[in-house]
Amino acid sequence: MSQAQALYRLQEIELNLLRGQKRLNEITAILADSRAVLEARDRVKTAQQALSPLHTRARNLELEIQSNADKARTTDEQLYSGRVRNPKELQDMQQEIQSLKKRSTALEDTLLEVMLAVEEAEARLAQAEADLRAVTADWENQNHLLLDEQNRLKSDQERLLEQRKQALVNVNADSLAAYNALKPRKQNQPVAVLEGDSCAACGVEQTRAIISETDRGATLPRCLSCGRILVRKPGRG
Ligand SMILES: [Zn+2]
Repeated sequence: MSQAQALYRLQEIELNLLRGQKRLNEITAILADSRAVLEARDRVKTAQQALSPLHTRARNLELEIQSNADKARTTDEQLYSGRVRNPKELQDMQQEIQSLKKRSTALEDTLLEVMLAVEEAEARLAQAEADLRAVTADWENQNHLLLDEQNRLKSDQERLLEQRKQALVNVNADSLAAYNALKPRKQNQPVAVLEGDSCAACGVEQTRAIISETDRGATLPRCLSCGRILVRKPGRG
């Protein structure tokens, strides 16, 4: 194996390591971000908060209607008890009964409106709760798949690190120095395949001398345009 080929092998392993790490970072970010569930939970809370005062209002109206009816009945009983004889007093009582009945009608209308609002708010709450269940189920399912993927990637990374160690055995110090110097400037791809007569990275056709050097694999031939180390793809001529 030539130095260029050894570096090409190293590059392939390192690119796989980078891809694996990138995906692991993405998974970590996704797992930390349960925004969808939090938002669905917020909507349930908001729906509950809207419903609670309506319930209180309906309960208070029912109590008021009840107390109004009690008052009307008591007055009515007094009116027909025969104990009150003063006409002015009797007239006042009749008026009070009228006004209590009027008040009851108004209260009942209001109660009906509040009950309708309660129904709407309950429907909204039920919908929000159903959404939360669906989002949570999705989330758990996704987490399960992501955790599986994370485990698989972690063991892949360990295997790749081991492969990298083995690949480095075939690389001498000068080659490694050249490779590492080029790496940051070439998007982690300091080695390019010579395809036919051209560099596969930049597409520029190479001179006879460079092609011959690459084919011999004796030194580290460089692309005349992009400066990458050139290699014949192992297994291809
Ligand atoms: Zn090139």
